[in-house]
Amino acid sequence: MVKDKGTLTKNYSLFQEARHYLVGGVDSPVRSFNYVGGEPLLIKRGKGAYVYDYDGNRYIDYVLSWGALILGHGFASLIKDLENTLKRGLSFGTTNALEVSLAKIIQETIPFIEKIRFTNSGTEAVMGAIRLARGYTKRDKILKFTNSYHGHADYLLAKAGSGLATLSIPLSAGVPEDLVKHTVLVSFGDIKSVGKVFNKYRGEIAAVIVEPVPANFGVISPDIDFLKQLREITKKYKSLLIFDEIITGFRFDFSSAAQKFGIIPDLICLGKIIGGGLPIGAFAGKNRIMNQLAPLGRVYQASTFSGNPIVMQSGLSALQALKKLKEDYLKLERLTEYLVLRLKEEARLSQIALKINYFGTMFSFKFKHKEQFGRFYRKMLQYGIYFAPSEFESNFLSFAHTNKEIDHTINSARLTLAKMRNDD
Ligand SMILES: *Cc1c(COP(=O)(O)O)cnc(C)c1O
Repeated sequence: MVKDKGTLTKNYSLFQEARHYLVGGVDSPVRSFNYVGGEPLLIKRGKGAYVYDYDGNRYIDYVLSWGALILGHGFASLIKDLENTLKRGLSFGTTNALEVSLAKIIQETIPFIEKIRFTNSGTEAVMGAIRLARGYTKRDKILKFTNSYHGHADYLLAKAGSGLATLSIPLSAGVPEDLVKHTVLVSFGDIKSVGKVFNKYRGEIAAVIVEPVPANFGVISPDIDFLKQLREITKKYKSLLIFDEIITGFRFDFSSAAQKFGIIPDLICLGKIIGGGLPIGAFAGKNRIMNQLAPLGRVYQASTFSGNPIVMQSGLSALQALKKLKEDYLKLERLTEYLVLRLKEEARLSQIALKINYFGTMFSFKFKHKEQFGRFYRKMLQYGIYFAPSEFESNFLSFAHTNKEIDHTINSARLTLAKMRNDD
């Protein structure tokens, strides 16, 4: 971005420098704004529902660290707890009390969990859960759905959502065919094909992995009947059902989507929100399965930094705060719906075809043409609204968002859509 009379903004200069040292100037592809065009936003700090770039511009944040920050930025009690914990040292590589407390609050909230293992990322959680499912069932194949995203493990990158959909990469280079040959792909919602696959690979499918509310190909409304059918068929063929709740865990209420829908998977993967803004993942389930993990069992999974006190404190403080906000989830859901319905109305009035999918406290856009999304996106950014820079990524609300931010977003959308209409 060039400010008045050719002065380069700090943001611009920093991104040029970043491109010199980091591949594409980023450490994760969607951050590059490839999909929407223009200079990516580089964020220096955040407070509540707002983030600030290096030039001091303020934005309403609907990305929220890709869904992790449901409390908003810099939540006071969490930061205070972290400061205290930091003073005691960073990492010891042993079990600590905070780890037990975080496990306990998660277990109390999601009671079908008997044992949990913490990891450093969602990707690691899914890798652990799948290895465990394979070890437990002594089977190799896994069934996953096209356009879902379960992290960047080799065998899960086939036809995945999120950044791969954004950049139109059907299968990452560098993944040998041999490593995806045990991954069976089915369209989401297609129970007939699921049945066929189970029939064809009788006794070979270790697990079905699914996002109960798909959120990495835009938000897709959950199909509860389909999830129930998955539960039945996995039971019938003695394979495991894995819910990837890395986005959905603690997103719709103070629990999991599994409980919300009354469908209990064999394993659940968590991440994002349970770290309070620091890198985390977890997988969990019943003793009879989880105890197959080393040191009790023969399925190996390990990490230097897993369960470290800083991340555990962050997660614990976040969940303690969310527990107090338990009754407010519904309000946040209503605020999301209000925003979505009003945005749809503005699009209708400006006669621009815009689909907005939403569920609970998340939503995503779909214009007729990708190029329209880019224009909408960049204009909204100028108005101080930071959405996810891809139609395939979800946007989120946090408990720091109020009517004020929502109304500013709606008004900005009205002006943006009107301008788009006039330019056409
Ligand atoms: C974010 C995400 C992951 C991967 O988590 P990372 O922490 O980025 O490794 C896996 N599954 C789903 C559904 C996600 O949204």
